[in-house]
Amino acid sequence: MTDRTIPEYGAFIDGRFRELGPVWFEAREAATGEILARLTRSGPAEVDDAVEAADRAFPAWAALTAEHRAALLMRFAAAIEENAETLARLESVDTGRHIREMREDYAATVTQLRYFASVVLAHEGFGRQLATGYLVAKRVPLGVCGQIIPWNDPAVMMAFKIAPALAAGNTVVLKPDRNASVSVMEITRLAADIFPPGVLNVVPGYGTEVGSALTAHPKVRKLAFTGSTETGRTVAEAGASRLVSSILELGGKSPSIVFPDIEDMDAVVANATFGVLMCNGQSCLAGTRLFVHADIYDRFLELLVARFESLQVGPPLDETTDLSGMIHAEHAKKVLSMIEAGIAEGARLVTGGHRAHVPGFEQGNFIEPTILEATNAMSVAREEIFGPVLCVIRWDDYETMIAEANDTPYGLASGIYTSNLRHAMDTADRLDAGSVWINEYFNLSGGVPFGGFKDSGLGREFCFDTLNEYTQLKSITIATSTKPAA
Ligand code: NAD
Repeated sequence: MTDRTIPEYGAFIDGRFRELGPVWFEAREAATGEILARLTRSGPAEVDDAVEAADRAFPAWAALTAEHRAALLMRFAAAIEENAETLARLESVDTGRHIREMREDYAATVTQLRYFASVVLAHEGFGRQLATGYLVAKRVPLGVCGQIIPWNDPAVMMAFKIAPALAAGNTVVLKPDRNASVSVMEITRLAADIFPPGVLNVVPGYGTEVGSALTAHPKVRKLAFTGSTETGRTVAEAGASRLVSSILELGGKSPSIVFPDIEDMDAVVANATFGVLMCNGQSCLAGTRLFVHADIYDRFLELLVARFESLQVGPPLDETTDLSGMIHAEHAKKVLSMIEAGIAEGARLVTGGHRAHVPGFEQGNFIEPTILEATNAMSVAREEIFGPVLCVIRWDDYETMIAEANDTPYGLASGIYTSNLRHAMDTADRLDAGSVWINEYFNLSGGVPFGGFKDSGLGREFCFDTLNEYTQLKSITIATSTKPAA
């Protein structure tokens, strides 16, 4: 028997939550290590039931008008908005991210659902007259989508995945990360009253168990994955072996370039700080390599250090916290060891670099905001650290800087700070990245295509084009008369 005062979540399949299964895992509060919930450690049997339920629900869901599906997505968005504060607090406790940032995440979650509920109404096929009759090219949904999300921003990731898939008429089996499933299960509770049974199914568990079963299931017709590049390859290979395509949002080591002509250095320092530290640095989008021009380098670094040192490291629910902790102890250890490796390689530790102690939260995994002066060849500038660590790199020759900015296996995002339009546009063209943010890092809102070049992924989310990823074209031709036999 388990202690019933702790919330329990079974898999959500065919419109209802199952009892906690015989094999389960614990969700723990990131900052205290206390048990937050128990969840079924689902396996191939739950995945199979979920996919079968989604497959049964598909024909009726696909047959609804886009207006009908959009209306349900709008209701879902409103339900999340109504419960946003409670959900944000829960997710903050679960993941350790601070509450002010979580509120922003919930606003983005709601926006994402509303965006796809709106644009799906304009997602049309096309028709034209042929020499012998007419063509009708329809956009039709694919079927059951298997979607896998990471731990760093579960609500936003859930919306990224399910909003376009459901809007386009597909059904979904979603697997949250085992380190961040609780808010996803609570959001699912809201969906239970809105969508017909089987349209959305959520199967918590471990990647190697649930994830592999989902990617291998013969009735899954589309895969979508956000996470590490390494796992993304495994997912894509599993799909490819069944001729199923994948949308992949993977890692990053994004460059930001500061030109000497910036007008407001304080504002650029603040935005570059936000760009690397949002999500406590645990973001694929983080602007982790900051190329600062030699002419302004010393003054810029001085202001940057002052900014980093002014940040309050604290518990996630404290409204004054600027930076909270890592998701779990093992991850914090990995971040600290990567900092040490960088120093051993010759990077100069400018500030931070150690565990931060937050009174009353001794079990938390807090790390000081860290600046390393590095070269682009060092491991800290090449490998994704996924923590509050910024590498600052001095540049003076433009061509060398561009070559270094692009010298990475990744290509997710990039930033440019300049007051010169020509510098901005020429550099935007030269950077190999899916997103280029000029003068405001992380300037992402509904409808702006999001996704990576190179090892950062395949496909684009967040935008109108995403609806094409979740549909296929079907051509119907009408001959005005049947050709007589030759
Ligand atoms: P991860 O790849 O280990 O896990 C991501 C998800 O995949 C989890 O749900 C996990 O359970 C599942 N998984 C693990 N093994 C699997 C398998 N064999 N088959 C199917 N699913 C499996 O990544 P992580 O360490 O949890 O997340 C951090 C990584 O995610 C970072 O590299 C980061 O850059 C990336 N990320 C990318 C984006 C983006 O949009 N590009 C967003 C967030 C995170």
